[in-house]
Amino acid sequence: MRLFVFAENKGIEHRVSVTPNVCEKLALNHEISIEKGAGEMAGFDDFSYKSSGGKISSKENIEHADVIFSINPLERDNIKLLKEKTILIGLQEPFNNSNNVILLRDSNITSFALDLIPRTTRAQYMDVLSSQANLAGYRAVLEAVHIFKRAIPLMMTSAGTIPAAKILVIGAGVAGLQAIATAKRLGASVSAFDVRASTKEQVESLGAKFVEIETNEKMDGVYADEMSDEYKKAQESKLRTVIQSQDIIITTAQIPEKKAPIIIKKDMVETMKSGSIIVDLASKTGGNCELTKHGEIVEKNGIKIVSFDNILNRIPFDASKLFAKNVFAFFELLVQKMSDQPEISKIDDDIIKSTLLTYNGKILNERIEKICQLSKH
Ligand code: NAD
Repeated sequence: MRLFVFAENKGIEHRVSVTPNVCEKLALNHEISIEKGAGEMAGFDDFSYKSSGGKISSKENIEHADVIFSINPLERDNIKLLKEKTILIGLQEPFNNSNNVILLRDSNITSFALDLIPRTTRAQYMDVLSSQANLAGYRAVLEAVHIFKRAIPLMMTSAGTIPAAKILVIGAGVAGLQAIATAKRLGASVSAFDVRASTKEQVESLGAKFVEIETNEKMDGVYADEMSDEYKKAQESKLRTVIQSQDIIITTAQIPEKKAPIIIKKDMVETMKSGSIIVDLASKTGGNCELTKHGEIVEKNGIKIVSFDNILNRIPFDASKLFAKNVFAFFELLVQKMSDQPEISKIDDDIIKSTLLTYNGKILNERIEKICQLSKH
Protein backbone atom coordinates (compact mmCIF):
# COMPACT_ATOMS: atom_id res chain seq x y z
CA MET A 1 0.00 0.00 0.00
CA ARG A 2 1.03 3.61 -0.51
CA LEU A 3 1.12 5.39 2.85
CA PHE A 4 1.28 9.14 3.42
CA VAL A 5 2.20 10.96 6.64
CA PHE A 6 0.39 14.26 6.79
CA ALA A 7 2.16 17.44 7.99
CA GLU A 8 -0.09 18.98 10.66
CA ASN A 9 -0.92 22.68 10.77
CA LYS A 10 2.17 23.97 12.57
CA GLY A 11 0.25 26.87 14.09
CA ILE A 12 -1.72 24.50 16.30
CA GLU A 13 0.10 21.17 16.31
CA HIS A 14 3.75 20.27 16.83
CA ARG A 15 3.34 16.50 16.95
CA VAL A 16 3.61 14.12 14.01
CA SER A 17 1.62 10.89 13.62
CA VAL A 18 4.54 8.72 12.40
CA THR A 19 8.10 8.96 13.73
CA PRO A 20 11.23 7.68 11.90
CA ASN A 21 11.42 4.42 13.87
CA VAL A 22 7.80 3.60 13.01
CA CYS A 23 8.45 4.75 9.42
CA GLU A 24 11.22 2.16 9.24
CA LYS A 25 8.83 -0.61 10.26
CA LEU A 26 6.14 0.52 7.83
CA ALA A 27 8.67 0.80 4.99
CA LEU A 28 9.38 -2.94 5.23
CA ASN A 29 6.04 -3.77 3.60
CA HIS A 30 4.74 -0.51 2.15
CA GLU A 31 5.75 2.54 0.16
CA ILE A 32 5.73 5.41 2.64
CA SER A 33 5.80 9.14 1.86
CA ILE A 34 6.27 11.81 4.49
CA GLU A 35 5.09 15.31 3.77
CA LYS A 36 8.05 17.68 3.79
CA GLY A 37 8.78 19.03 7.26
CA ALA A 38 6.09 16.86 8.90
CA GLY A 39 8.26 15.92 11.88
CA GLU A 40 10.33 19.05 12.21
CA MET A 41 8.43 20.69 15.12
CA ALA A 42 8.63 17.42 17.07
CA GLY A 43 12.39 17.07 16.52
CA PHE A 44 12.42 14.62 13.56
CA ASP A 45 13.96 16.07 10.42
CA ASP A 46 13.30 14.95 6.85
CA PHE A 47 16.68 13.26 6.68
CA SER A 48 15.81 10.89 9.55
CA TYR A 49 12.68 9.76 7.66
CA LYS A 50 14.71 9.30 4.46
CA SER A 51 17.23 7.14 6.23
CA SER A 52 14.32 5.12 7.67
CA GLY A 53 13.06 4.17 4.21
CA GLY A 54 10.58 7.03 3.72
CA LYS A 55 10.23 9.33 0.74
CA ILE A 56 9.86 13.08 1.35
CA SER A 57 6.89 14.33 -0.55
CA SER A 58 4.78 17.43 -1.19
CA LYS A 59 1.11 17.75 -0.20
CA GLU A 60 0.01 17.32 -3.83
CA ASN A 61 1.04 13.66 -3.68
CA ILE A 62 -1.60 12.98 -1.04
CA GLU A 63 -4.00 12.13 -3.88
CA HIS A 64 -1.96 9.01 -4.73
CA ALA A 65 -2.07 7.62 -1.20
CA ASP A 66 -4.07 4.57 -0.14
CA VAL A 67 -3.65 5.35 3.56
CA ILE A 68 -3.13 8.70 5.30
CA PHE A 69 -1.90 9.08 8.86
CA SER A 70 -2.62 12.28 10.74
CA ILE A 71 -3.03 13.46 14.31
CA ASN A 72 -5.82 16.02 13.97
CA PRO A 73 -8.89 15.97 11.73
CA LEU A 74 -7.91 17.07 8.23
CA GLU A 75 -9.06 20.53 7.20
CA ARG A 76 -11.80 20.57 4.58
CA ASP A 77 -9.53 21.66 1.72
CA ASN A 78 -7.22 18.75 2.45
CA ILE A 79 -10.07 16.22 2.56
CA LYS A 80 -11.02 17.43 -0.90
CA LEU A 81 -7.56 16.40 -2.18
CA LEU A 82 -8.12 12.74 -1.28
CA LYS A 83 -9.20 10.16 -3.81
CA GLU A 84 -12.29 8.06 -3.03
CA LYS A 85 -11.78 5.09 -0.72
CA THR A 86 -8.57 6.51 0.78
CA ILE A 87 -8.13 5.18 4.32
CA LEU A 88 -7.68 8.02 6.83
CA ILE A 89 -6.36 7.16 10.30
CA GLY A 90 -6.20 9.78 13.06
CA LEU A 91 -8.20 11.69 15.64
CA GLN A 92 -11.44 12.89 14.02
CA GLU A 93 -13.13 14.62 17.02
CA PRO A 94 -16.36 13.07 15.73
CA PHE A 95 -18.67 14.43 18.45
CA ASN A 96 -18.01 18.07 17.67
CA ASN A 97 -16.91 18.01 14.07
CA SER A 98 -20.06 17.05 12.18
CA ASN A 99 -19.26 19.06 9.06
CA ASN A 100 -16.01 17.18 8.60
CA VAL A 101 -17.61 13.80 9.24
CA ILE A 102 -20.27 14.60 6.64
CA LEU A 103 -17.57 15.64 4.14
CA LEU A 104 -15.65 12.41 4.78
CA ARG A 105 -18.84 10.45 4.16
CA ASP A 106 -19.73 12.37 1.00
CA SER A 107 -16.17 12.11 -0.33
CA ASN A 108 -16.34 8.33 0.17
CA ILE A 109 -13.32 8.27 2.49
CA THR A 110 -12.77 5.27 4.75
CA SER A 111 -12.05 7.11 7.98
CA PHE A 112 -11.01 5.69 11.32
CA ALA A 113 -11.42 7.79 14.46
CA LEU A 114 -8.72 6.88 16.96
CA ASP A 115 -10.77 8.86 19.49
CA LEU A 116 -13.19 5.91 19.49
CA ILE A 117 -10.70 3.15 20.40
CA PRO A 118 -12.38 1.03 23.09
CA ARG A 119 -10.81 1.34 26.56
CA THR A 120 -10.08 -2.38 26.81
CA THR A 121 -6.91 -4.26 27.72
CA ARG A 122 -6.54 -5.55 24.14
CA ALA A 123 -6.77 -2.02 22.73
CA GLN A 124 -4.30 -0.51 25.19
CA TYR A 125 -1.41 -0.54 22.68
CA MET A 126 -3.47 1.59 20.32
CA ASP A 127 -5.03 3.92 22.87
CA VAL A 128 -3.83 7.37 21.82
CA LEU A 129 -6.08 9.06 24.36
CA SER A 130 -4.27 7.30 27.21
CA SER A 131 -0.75 7.73 25.87
CA GLN A 132 -1.29 11.44 25.30
CA ALA A 133 -3.20 12.04 28.57
CA ASN A 134 -0.34 10.45 30.46
CA LEU A 135 2.16 12.95 29.02
CA ALA A 136 -0.28 15.84 29.50
CA GLY A 137 -0.56 15.01 33.20
CA TYR A 138 3.22 14.95 33.56
CA ARG A 139 3.71 18.19 31.67
CA ALA A 140 0.91 20.02 33.54
CA VAL A 141 2.84 19.63 36.79
CA LEU A 142 6.08 20.87 35.23
CA GLU A 143 4.32 23.89 33.73
CA ALA A 144 2.77 24.77 37.10
CA VAL A 145 6.10 24.36 38.89
CA HIS A 146 7.78 26.52 36.28
CA ILE A 147 5.39 29.43 36.92
CA PHE A 148 5.23 28.91 40.70
CA LYS A 149 7.57 31.28 42.48
CA ARG A 150 8.44 28.86 45.29
CA ALA A 151 10.31 25.58 45.71
CA ILE A 152 8.45 22.25 45.72
CA PRO A 153 10.20 19.89 48.17
CA LEU A 154 10.73 20.35 51.88
CA MET A 155 14.19 21.83 52.35
CA MET A 156 15.87 22.18 55.72
CA THR A 157 18.83 24.48 55.36
CA SER A 158 21.02 26.43 57.74
CA ALA A 159 19.23 29.54 56.46
CA GLY A 160 15.83 28.17 57.37
CA THR A 161 13.19 25.63 56.41
CA ILE A 162 11.18 25.70 53.20
CA PRO A 163 7.98 23.70 53.57
CA ALA A 164 6.91 21.24 50.85
CA ALA A 165 4.46 22.77 48.38
CA LYS A 166 0.92 21.39 48.51
CA ILE A 167 -0.36 20.03 45.21
CA LEU A 168 -3.94 18.86 44.72
CA VAL A 169 -4.91 16.80 41.68
CA ILE A 170 -8.60 16.71 40.78
CA GLY A 171 -9.57 13.72 38.64
CA ALA A 172 -7.45 10.60 39.03
CA GLY A 173 -7.77 9.10 35.55
CA VAL A 174 -4.80 8.59 33.24
CA ALA A 175 -3.64 12.25 33.28
CA GLY A 176 -4.37 12.72 36.97
CA LEU A 177 -2.44 9.64 38.10
CA GLN A 178 0.61 10.74 36.12
CA ALA A 179 0.29 14.25 37.59
CA ILE A 180 0.24 12.73 41.09
CA ALA A 181 3.30 10.57 40.36
CA THR A 182 5.19 13.56 38.92
CA ALA A 183 4.29 15.85 41.83
CA LYS A 184 5.39 13.15 44.30
CA ARG A 185 8.73 12.74 42.50
CA LEU A 186 9.31 16.47 42.85
CA GLY A 187 8.79 16.19 46.59
CA ALA A 188 5.41 17.94 46.94
CA SER A 189 2.83 17.09 49.55
CA VAL A 190 0.20 15.63 47.22
CA SER A 191 -3.49 14.97 47.64
CA ALA A 192 -6.04 13.98 45.05
CA PHE A 193 -9.65 13.19 44.55
CA ASP A 194 -11.97 11.64 42.02
CA VAL A 195 -15.65 10.78 42.03
CA ARG A 196 -14.84 7.14 41.34
CA ALA A 197 -14.33 5.46 44.70
CA SER A 198 -12.03 2.87 43.10
CA THR A 199 -9.38 5.54 42.48
CA LYS A 200 -8.69 5.87 46.23
CA GLU A 201 -6.45 2.81 46.19
CA GLN A 202 -4.58 4.01 43.07
CA VAL A 203 -4.03 7.47 44.56
CA GLU A 204 -2.78 6.01 47.83
CA SER A 205 -0.50 3.54 46.08
CA LEU A 206 1.31 6.54 44.57
CA GLY A 207 1.86 7.91 48.06
CA ALA A 208 -0.74 10.69 47.84
CA LYS A 209 -3.60 11.41 50.23
CA PHE A 210 -7.13 10.75 48.94
CA VAL A 211 -9.63 13.51 49.69
CA GLU A 212 -12.79 11.79 50.93
CA ILE A 213 -16.20 13.30 50.21
CA GLU A 214 -18.75 12.63 52.96
CA THR A 215 -21.71 11.15 51.12
CA ASN A 216 -23.49 7.82 50.82
CA GLU A 217 -23.26 7.94 47.06
CA LYS A 218 -20.45 5.77 45.72
CA MET A 219 -19.36 5.59 42.09
CA ASP A 220 -17.54 2.43 41.25
CA GLY A 221 -17.63 2.17 37.46
CA VAL A 222 -14.71 2.76 35.16
CA TYR A 223 -16.10 6.13 34.11
CA ALA A 224 -17.67 8.90 36.11
CA ASP A 225 -21.10 9.93 34.95
CA GLU A 226 -22.63 13.20 35.98
CA MET A 227 -23.14 13.32 39.72
CA SER A 228 -26.35 13.91 41.67
CA ASP A 229 -26.99 17.36 43.12
CA GLU A 230 -26.50 15.97 46.64
CA TYR A 231 -23.04 14.63 45.75
CA LYS A 232 -22.08 17.86 44.01
CA LYS A 233 -22.99 19.82 47.17
CA ALA A 234 -20.93 17.55 49.41
CA GLN A 235 -18.01 17.70 46.98
CA GLU A 236 -18.15 21.47 46.79
CA SER A 237 -18.28 21.90 50.53
CA LYS A 238 -15.26 19.59 51.07
CA LEU A 239 -13.25 21.19 48.29
CA ARG A 240 -13.96 24.69 49.55
CA THR A 241 -11.93 23.84 52.64
CA VAL A 242 -9.19 21.81 50.92
CA ILE A 243 -8.54 24.32 48.15
CA GLN A 244 -7.69 27.22 50.48
CA SER A 245 -4.43 25.64 51.59
CA GLN A 246 -3.20 24.45 48.16
CA ASP A 247 -0.27 25.97 46.28
CA ILE A 248 -0.89 24.19 42.98
CA ILE A 249 -4.04 22.50 41.68
CA ILE A 250 -4.06 20.35 38.56
CA THR A 251 -7.56 19.64 37.28
CA THR A 252 -8.21 16.78 34.86
CA ALA A 253 -11.88 15.86 35.45
CA GLN A 254 -13.79 14.91 32.32
CA ILE A 255 -17.07 13.24 31.53
CA PRO A 256 -16.83 11.34 28.23
CA GLU A 257 -18.69 13.08 25.39
CA LYS A 258 -19.97 15.84 27.69
CA LYS A 259 -18.84 19.21 28.94
CA ALA A 260 -16.28 19.03 31.76
CA PRO A 261 -17.76 19.57 35.24
CA ILE A 262 -17.14 22.95 36.91
CA ILE A 263 -15.49 21.99 40.19
CA ILE A 264 -13.69 25.17 41.23
CA LYS A 265 -16.08 28.10 41.26
CA LYS A 266 -14.97 31.71 41.00
CA ASP A 267 -15.54 32.43 44.71
CA MET A 268 -13.52 29.33 45.63
CA VAL A 269 -10.55 30.71 43.67
CA GLU A 270 -10.84 33.91 45.71
CA THR A 271 -10.16 31.97 48.90
CA MET A 272 -6.82 30.70 47.61
CA LYS A 273 -3.46 32.22 48.53
CA SER A 274 -1.87 34.76 46.22
CA GLY A 275 0.82 33.03 44.14
CA SER A 276 -1.14 29.79 43.82
CA ILE A 277 -1.52 28.15 40.42
CA ILE A 278 -4.35 26.18 38.84
CA VAL A 279 -3.57 24.26 35.66
CA ASP A 280 -6.80 23.21 33.99
CA LEU A 281 -6.31 20.25 31.65
CA ALA A 282 -10.03 20.02 30.96
CA SER A 283 -10.21 23.43 29.28
CA LYS A 284 -10.92 22.10 25.79
CA THR A 285 -14.28 20.79 26.98
CA GLY A 286 -15.07 23.88 29.07
CA GLY A 287 -12.68 23.51 32.01
CA ASN A 288 -13.00 22.48 35.66
CA CYS A 289 -12.53 26.03 36.94
CA GLU A 290 -15.15 28.67 36.33
CA LEU A 291 -12.46 31.24 35.47
CA THR A 292 -10.58 29.12 32.93
CA LYS A 293 -10.15 30.53 29.44
CA HIS A 294 -8.95 27.90 26.99
CA GLY A 295 -5.39 28.61 25.83
CA GLU A 296 -4.89 31.56 28.19
CA ILE A 297 -3.47 32.45 31.59
CA VAL A 298 -6.07 34.27 33.67
CA GLU A 299 -4.92 36.09 36.80
CA LYS A 300 -7.24 36.76 39.72
CA ASN A 301 -5.94 38.25 43.00
CA GLY A 302 -2.45 36.92 42.24
CA ILE A 303 -3.73 33.41 41.49
CA LYS A 304 -2.99 32.15 37.99
CA ILE A 305 -5.47 29.89 36.19
CA VAL A 306 -3.50 28.35 33.35
CA SER A 307 -4.74 26.49 30.33
CA PHE A 308 -3.04 25.46 27.12
CA ASP A 309 -4.38 25.21 23.59
CA ASN A 310 -2.41 22.02 23.26
CA ILE A 311 -0.14 21.10 26.16
CA LEU A 312 1.34 18.25 24.10
CA ASN A 313 3.06 20.88 21.93
CA ARG A 314 5.34 21.29 24.94
CA ILE A 315 6.48 17.67 24.77
CA PRO A 316 6.04 16.88 21.06
CA PHE A 317 8.97 14.46 20.68
CA ASP A 318 7.75 11.89 23.18
CA ALA A 319 4.08 12.56 22.46
CA SER A 320 4.74 11.78 18.77
CA LYS A 321 6.75 8.67 19.65
CA LEU A 322 3.89 7.22 21.70
CA PHE A 323 1.22 8.33 19.22
CA ALA A 324 3.15 6.71 16.35
CA LYS A 325 3.49 3.44 18.26
CA ASN A 326 -0.26 3.43 18.93
CA VAL A 327 -0.98 4.15 15.26
CA PHE A 328 1.38 1.41 14.13
CA ALA A 329 -0.32 -1.16 16.37
CA PHE A 330 -3.70 -0.11 15.00
CA PHE A 331 -2.53 -0.22 11.39
CA GLU A 332 -0.96 -3.67 11.82
CA LEU A 333 -4.26 -4.98 13.15
CA LEU A 334 -6.16 -3.42 10.25
CA VAL A 335 -3.80 -4.86 7.62
CA GLN A 336 -3.92 -8.28 9.22
CA LYS A 337 -7.74 -8.26 9.34
CA MET A 338 -7.99 -6.91 5.76
CA SER A 339 -5.96 -9.83 4.45
CA ASP A 340 -8.85 -12.14 5.48
CA GLN A 341 -11.69 -9.70 4.82
CA PRO A 342 -10.94 -6.88 2.35
CA GLU A 343 -14.47 -5.45 2.84
CA ILE A 344 -13.58 -3.31 5.85
CA SER A 345 -17.13 -2.85 7.15
CA LYS A 346 -17.46 -6.65 7.43
CA ILE A 347 -14.35 -7.15 9.57
CA ASP A 348 -15.43 -8.82 12.77
CA ASP A 349 -13.23 -7.07 15.33
CA ASP A 350 -14.40 -4.76 18.11
CA ILE A 351 -11.49 -2.32 17.70
CA ILE A 352 -12.00 -1.95 13.95
CA LYS A 353 -15.78 -1.77 14.34
CA SER A 354 -15.67 0.90 17.06
CA THR A 355 -13.29 3.16 15.19
CA LEU A 356 -14.64 2.87 11.63
CA LEU A 357 -16.37 6.21 11.20
CA THR A 358 -17.19 6.55 7.50
CA TYR A 359 -17.13 3.88 4.81
CA ASN A 360 -18.61 3.56 1.35
CA GLY A 361 -20.53 6.83 1.60
CA LYS A 362 -22.03 6.08 5.02
CA ILE A 363 -21.42 7.07 8.64
CA LEU A 364 -21.15 3.77 10.46
CA ASN A 365 -21.33 4.96 14.05
CA GLU A 366 -25.00 5.38 14.98
CA ARG A 367 -24.50 8.03 17.66
CA ILE A 368 -22.35 10.16 15.40
CA GLU A 369 -24.74 9.68 12.49
CA LYS A 370 -27.52 11.09 14.72
CA ILE A 371 -25.39 14.07 15.75
CA CYS A 372 -24.63 14.75 12.07
CA GLN A 373 -28.32 14.57 11.18
CA LEU A 374 -29.21 17.00 13.98
CA SER A 375 -26.45 19.40 12.93
CA LYS A 376 -28.14 19.84 9.54
CA HIS A 377 -31.33 21.22 11.16
P1 NAD B 1 -11.30 11.03 31.73
O1 NAD B 1 -10.21 11.80 31.07
O2 NAD B 1 -12.59 10.89 31.01
O3 NAD B 1 -11.60 11.71 33.17
C1 NAD B 1 -10.55 11.96 34.08
C2 NAD B 1 -11.02 11.65 35.47
O4 NAD B 1 -11.94 12.64 35.92
C3 NAD B 1 -11.73 10.32 35.63
O5 NAD B 1 -11.01 9.51 36.53
C4 NAD B 1 -13.09 10.70 36.16
O6 NAD B 1 -13.61 9.76 37.10
C5 NAD B 1 -12.81 12.04 36.83
N1 NAD B 1 -13.99 12.88 37.07
C6 NAD B 1 -15.08 13.08 36.31
N2 NAD B 1 -15.94 13.95 36.91
C7 NAD B 1 -15.35 14.32 38.09
C8 NAD B 1 -15.72 15.19 39.13
N3 NAD B 1 -16.87 15.87 39.11
N4 NAD B 1 -14.90 15.31 40.18
C9 NAD B 1 -13.73 14.62 40.23
N5 NAD B 1 -13.31 13.78 39.26
C10 NAD B 1 -14.12 13.63 38.19
O7 NAD B 1 -10.83 9.58 32.15
P2 NAD B 1 -9.58 8.72 31.65
O8 NAD B 1 -8.38 9.22 32.31
O9 NAD B 1 -9.58 8.69 30.17
O10 NAD B 1 -9.90 7.26 32.18
C11 NAD B 1 -10.84 6.96 33.16
C12 NAD B 1 -10.77 5.48 33.54
O11 NAD B 1 -10.68 4.60 32.42
C13 NAD B 1 -9.56 5.14 34.39
O12 NAD B 1 -9.95 4.19 35.34
C14 NAD B 1 -8.63 4.47 33.47
O13 NAD B 1 -7.74 3.59 34.12
C15 NAD B 1 -9.61 3.72 32.60
N6 NAD B 1 -8.97 3.46 31.32
C16 NAD B 1 -8.84 2.17 30.91
C17 NAD B 1 -8.17 1.90 29.73
C18 NAD B 1 -7.98 0.52 29.23
O14 NAD B 1 -8.35 -0.41 29.90
N7 NAD B 1 -7.44 0.36 28.05
C19 NAD B 1 -7.64 2.94 28.96
C20 NAD B 1 -7.81 4.23 29.42
C21 NAD B 1 -8.48 4.49 30.61
